[in-house]
Formats: sequence, C-alpha cells, structure tokens
Amino acid sequence: MAFKKLCEVYLVVASFSNVHAATVNAPKVIARDVVVIGGGAAGSHAAFRLQQDYNKSVVLIEKEAILGGHVDTYLDTSTIPPIPREYGVQVYFPYLDGLDFISRFNLTLLPGLGPRGATITRNIDFASGLELPSNYTGPDPFSTTTAIIRFHDLMVSQGWDKMVEPGFWNLPPGPQIPEDLLLPIGKFAKKWNVTDALPTMYQSTGGGPAARHRNFTDIMTLTFLQSFSPAWMKVFFGQAGMFHIDGGNQLLYNAIHSSLGKENVLTNSIVSSVRRPEKEGDKRGIEVTIRTTTSGKSATTTVIRAKKILLAIPPTRENLSPFDLNAVESDLFRRPKYGRYGTAIVSSPALPRGYELHNTPILAATDPNKPFINEPHILEFSSYGNDSELFSIGTSSSGLSYGEFDEREAIKVAQQSLDRMVAAGTVKGAGAGSAGGKKGGKESKLKVLEYSDHGPGGYGVTAEDMRAGWMERLYKLQGRRGTWYTGNAIAMDFSTQLWKMNDEVLRRMLESW
Ligand SMILES: Cc1cc2nc3c(=O)[nH]c(=O)nc-3n(C[C@H](O)[C@H](O)[C@H](O)COP(=O)(O)OP(=O)(O)OC[C@H]3O[C@@H](n4cnc5c(N)ncnc54)[C@H](O)[C@@H]3O)c2cc1C
Repeated sequence: MAFKKLCEVYLVVASFSNVHAATVNAPKVIARDVVVIGGGAAGSHAAFRLQQDYNKSVVLIEKEAILGGHVDTYLDTSTIPPIPREYGVQVYFPYLDGLDFISRFNLTLLPGLGPRGATITRNIDFASGLELPSNYTGPDPFSTTTAIIRFHDLMVSQGWDKMVEPGFWNLPPGPQIPEDLLLPIGKFAKKWNVTDALPTMYQSTGGGPAARHRNFTDIMTLTFLQSFSPAWMKVFFGQAGMFHIDGGNQLLYNAIHSSLGKENVLTNSIVSSVRRPEKEGDKRGIEVTIRTTTSGKSATTTVIRAKKILLAIPPTRENLSPFDLNAVESDLFRRPKYGRYGTAIVSSPALPRGYELHNTPILAATDPNKPFINEPHILEFSSYGNDSELFSIGTSSSGLSYGEFDEREAIKVAQQSLDRMVAAGTVKGAGAGSAGGKKGGKESKLKVLEYSDHGPGGYGVTAEDMRAGWMERLYKLQGRRGTWYTGNAIAMDFSTQLWKMNDEVLRRMLESW
C-alpha cells in the first residue's frame, strides 16, 4: 500500500474544507504576507520558519497531493509488519546546524540509511544484460577515499567551498569566477588528481546531475558540486554522519503540513497567473491566482494577495510560464537546460530478492574508473532485502531533454533492461521456461507500484553564461518585484544545505520588509 496514497487521503480530506467553497466562477480571495510556491524541502522549511519564527502569515502552494518534493516514502506491505521504504531522499547529514530543524518536530533521527535488508551487489551491463566477470571488484576503495579527501581539502584550501555553500552568495562576479570551477568535471579531476573520486561520486549522485548530459564527465564543475558538495564529501571519509527519520522521511513533511495548518497549504495546486509590481513603490502589490484540482471535484480558484513571493520550484520555462516575467527575468530563465530524473518502486518475478543489480557498463571490467553510462538508463534494481518483494530504481535521461524522458519512457527503459538480463540468462525469468523450467521462463514483467518524477535534473547553464554573470544576475534578482528564490536549482542540492540557504534568503527578505 502506498504510504503516499494514505497521506493523500488524509490530507485531501483535511484540506477539503479550505477549498470546497470556491468554484471556478467565484474565486476565493485570501491575503498573506508571503506566498511560497513549491512544497519540497526548501519551500516547506521556509514556509514553516516564516510562520513560526517570524510571525508572518503564509500560504504554501504545492502541485502534488502531499508536501516533501524529492522525499518518497513507500509503505511496504509485503513485509510483516509493514516497513516504510525510502526511494527518494534517503538521508540527512549535518551541515552547520541544519539538522536542528528536524529536532523541532517530535521525530527521531536514526543513523544510516532507512530500513533495507542486506543485499549483495551484482554488476550487470544493462545494455547487454551480461554480468561483469566475477573478478570485477570496482574502483579501489582506498584510492577512492583518498581522492575524495583530496577533493574536499582542495575545495577548502582554495576557498571554493565558501563560494558555493550553502548557496552561491559568495561566488565572484562572472569574469572572476575561478576558471577551474567552470571546467568540465572530467578535466577538473584530471588537473587536480582526483579522478579516482569520480566513479563513486557518479554512483552516489544517482545520475541526477548527469541527466542533462550524455557524458557525465562533461558536467561543469560548479554544477556538479551542487550534487556533491564539499560538506557531503565529508560523509565519504567519516567526518560527517548521515541519518534517516524513524518511521519514514515523509513524516517531517506531514508534520510541517500540520504545523502550518490546512488553511495555509494548498496541495494539488499550481499557479495559473501572477501579477507583480514592476517598479519600487508600485502600490498594486502581488496577486497570485492558484488553480486547485482535487480528483473527482471541479477545479477551484484561489486569488492570493501577498506582500512577497518565495519561489521554491525549479525555475523552468514551464513552471514560470504563468509568471509576468520581464525582459531581464525571461533572459535569465531561458538559458538553463535540464534533463529528467525519476525513481520508482517496482517488483517482478524475475528480480532476485536480496540483490542490488547495479548497472555497470562492460567497459568498467577493463577500466573500473569508467562506470559512466552515456544514454538514457536506469541505475539499479535495488532489493529491500530477502523479506520484501520490492525494488527501488533510479532513472536518468542522460542526454535526453526533460520532455523526452517521461515516466513511460523511463519505465520502458527499465523493462528493456530486465528483459535483456533474462534473455542473457543473467537472471531467471519466471514461468516454466525451457528445459523443464531449469533455465527459468521468460516472464519478467515489471509492476510499477509507485513512480516519482524528480523533475529537472542537472539544471544548469554553460560556462560562457557563467562567465557572462548568469549566477550573479540571478542572485541580484532576489527581492526584486517582491520575489525571492530558493531551492536546489540555485543552491547545494541537499536538504540541510537548502535549509541553511533559506536562512539567508529569509534574513534578507525580513530585512527588506
Ligand atoms: C533520488 C534523489 C535522492 C536524493 N537523496 C538525497 C538525500 O539522501 N539527502 C539529501 O539531503 N538530498 C537528497 N537529494 C537532493 C534533494 O533534491 C534535496 O535534498 C531536496 O529535497 C530538494 O528540495 P527542493 O525543495 O529544492 O526541491 P523539490 O524537492 O523538487 O521541491 C520542489 C517542490 O515544488 C513542487 N512543484 C514543482 N513545480 C511546481 C509548480 N509549478 N507549482 C507548484 N508546485 C510545484 C514539487 O512537486 C516539489 O514538491 C536527493 C534527490 C533525488 C532526486
């Protein structure tokens, strides 16, 4: 049973009283100090702090049925008792006092990853379905760890960590950005002798930053760091721990939802139009029109009159199309390109329980430092252990654009990968099969229990745009036209770092009040 679905039922019922009076023809009009758009880690945290710590009235707009964004917790009922399984955000790690935010709720942090039984890794080339030779051991762990330490120490000694964490507040103006940070990560790694760190970095970022690129090593270092920040590097050499929330990471966002109050959260909602002041002193204020579509009900419209907007969604062209962008904003936001990343919970009679089937290209058998995959792919089928029928998968568009790699395409690639493994005899299909069933049958149909679109991955611009001051101009937009920006597209892509990014955004917002 989907934990998410249970939450949806609860939250839809809870929010019903908020929206039932509105109709498309008679919009409900509300007034708030701040309208926060996007209820992921960044938007939910900011809305909570504005309301609880700064006494501002807020309304949080989220297009999905529940808050949490990249957090995906699935209640695994194939086990007794049912166990919450994480298949999106796995862990929280300490960054400054970022973890303290979780302590504000009645939640317990436990060390390590969420519940997952022991698994044995098998390295399989999903393009051919063939398993790598049994003497394949992957990149040398000692060289990997020492390279990650070197990478981290380099960031600190050059002061580059301060330029990027938690957001790009201290990044120098375009022409003064250190050229090293604009190099493709492959060239950067060679120059600074940290190439041995890349395979692990690639695998642990789950292909997210690679989603836009056909070739992982082409990612600009500055963009790459968003998915593998200096603070996150510390986890890999034991200088920082990692934690999950007992009962499921989703519980944090349910708690935030409850604290904010149902009248202050509009789920299943998207922005349909925005009017913002163009110039300082424009008295018309901000007006945001929201359309809420709850299954089985007619759509409702809410008009929000607000003093400020906080945008905590990826600033893609699609997301910004209802906004009244001026020429400067349009020029900035048309530049980034992005791919698509997704995760899912699947099962299949052909998937062997207790194993992580890892997508490792055959090339890695001769060069373990080349595990990179340069085509749309899934990263793994990862079992939750012998007692569960469930597997998590991660999907990366790797070179395809966002629109070209939707759920259907991603699942098609997953199914093809499994079919190839069955055809190659690497895993056994179910059914009678040939030779009296000894070789296994061909049955490998994937059942998708839940798919989660993680939206734009590898959001970023070119080195030329960076040199021309793209990031500087973006950060200068903070506060203009009553609009503030946060979220993983413009900061380090980790929850605790986004919360610290927010602290600075909110400090500046309140100063400007
Ligand atoms: C598979 C995966 C695993 C990860 N694992 C970890 C991890 O273990 N630890 C960690 O710290 N970080 C992890 N991350 C990074 C993660 O992205 C950040 O931690 C954080 O969750 C991002 O938060 P956000 O609010 O910036 O973005 P999101 O979580 O994407 O939130 C944006 C929200 O806005 C909503 N939205 C989008 N468009 C609209 C719209 N037009 N109108 C209204 N709402 C909209 C979305 O539905 C979403 O809820 C992981 C990321 C991925 C993809």
